[in-house]
Amino acid sequence: MSGVTFKQFKFDAHKAIADPVLQGAVDGATRTFRTARAAALADVPDVDELRDHFKAIRSATLSRLADHLETFERQAAAAGAHVHWAQDGAAANRIVVEIARQHGAQMVVKSKSMATEETHLNKALIEAGITPVETDLGEWIIQLAGEPPSHIVGPALHKTRQQVAELFSREVGRPLDPDDIPALTAEARRVLREKFLTADIGISGANLAVAETGSIVLVTNEGNGRLVTSAPPAHIAVVGIEKICPTWDDAAVWLSLLGRSATGQPLSIYTNTITGPARAADLDGPREMHIILMDNGRSGLIGTGYEEVLQCIRCGACLNACPVYQEVGGHSYGNAYSGPIGAVLIPLLFGLESNEALPHASSLCGACLEVCPARIDLPRMLLDLRADEVDQHILSREEHLIESGIAWLLGQRRLFNFLADMGRIFQKPLVDQDRLLAVPPEFNPAGERRLPTLAERSFHDLWNNLREEDDPAAPVYGWLHLAAVVLALLFILRLLKGGKTS
Ligand code: SF4
Repeated sequence: MSGVTFKQFKFDAHKAIADPVLQGAVDGATRTFRTARAAALADVPDVDELRDHFKAIRSATLSRLADHLETFERQAAAAGAHVHWAQDGAAANRIVVEIARQHGAQMVVKSKSMATEETHLNKALIEAGITPVETDLGEWIIQLAGEPPSHIVGPALHKTRQQVAELFSREVGRPLDPDDIPALTAEARRVLREKFLTADIGISGANLAVAETGSIVLVTNEGNGRLVTSAPPAHIAVVGIEKICPTWDDAAVWLSLLGRSATGQPLSIYTNTITGPARAADLDGPREMHIILMDNGRSGLIGTGYEEVLQCIRCGACLNACPVYQEVGGHSYGNAYSGPIGAVLIPLLFGLESNEALPHASSLCGACLEVCPARIDLPRMLLDLRADEVDQHILSREEHLIESGIAWLLGQRRLFNFLADMGRIFQKPLVDQDRLLAVPPEFNPAGERRLPTLAERSFHDLWNNLREEDDPAAPVYGWLHLAAVVLALLFILRLLKGGKTS
């Protein structure tokens, strides 16, 4: 994995910002998700208490994660499942490929799974000569496009129906009408149904894994999840170890927040509970079930200041709320995870140095914390990661110098005020409709946007005005300040003049 350097992030972000089709698609989809989420949560009485309760559940679970995992293993095995442990993504892929080989598999069907996106399982399967077929509609679209997902919940939300029709037309070898969406989905169903019936293995993830019964739960809005986990003779589920949920009571709280936060539904259309393989008397269902519990860097976060990130339930609400994600789209994050959760999780799982840009892909506005069902403090962790970059000397020398200079300047109140006053005077020829004229892109990370001007009056100025009402000597300070500015200006002019004549 190459990682996301500042240069790479800037390049991808500029590309996304300059793409009006992508901007329109991401704007529309995130707005729809946001509106639906707000409406769904407004209907829940005591929603704040519910979120607090959920946070407490997630926090308590992580504090005894090893115990819950052992319970899960025991119960899942008792139900007939084979439980495997994978220390990292490569190990998880290896286990999947080994099982597939034991079954002589040529083709596997997959339902949507962020864990297998994280491990690049499709690539590993193809290298082993096994064809993976994504069967979630969004995942199938991006598989046909050869792209990674651009959103945790809606992997193809950056695609328009015209682009989807083009991809499907290419796949089926005849033109399809982009305005006939039912016909497009029917075509996908026709192609994929055949795959379900001929696949040797079905591969899924899990939204949660309930320890007390050894069950996995899959939450989806498409029927493909059921077909993947029941039609082929064997089912493999790849599950991140943080997805453990101790009891069904806890799962009820989890599920009540997941659908609402993700898509604004009280419950997603399908909530599938799977406990072991098919029983002897069952007419259908897989005869073999494997569950791979994958660590991949997660256990190293337990007990650190970043443990909280493991409370994430991948609802995607923070992506929909994030002003940076809305502009740069999911692919700028260079990984399966994107948006605020990606900006924290990717450096923690895959290395801060190689993903140096991501903790900076945030305005720290706090919108992600505001909407997170588990109240995960992503802004705090973004700041902590930035501090880690400084401590670990990951920032370049130039950036380090600039940031130290700014930190010093912010501590010099008089000098800062003086420079701000100068800025107010010298910005005048550059102002157009309360904005500065366009500045070169290297000084303007927001791309085409123009920076706001310095306010006519600073906060200090306004504050001093308030004080004047109580302090009779306050106006004198104001005049002294003005006199200091005028003197400084005269001094600069004189210096400039002297420079010209000499
Ligand atoms: S961090 Fe919170 S809002 Fe973002 S995906 Fe995870 S649970 Fe959802």
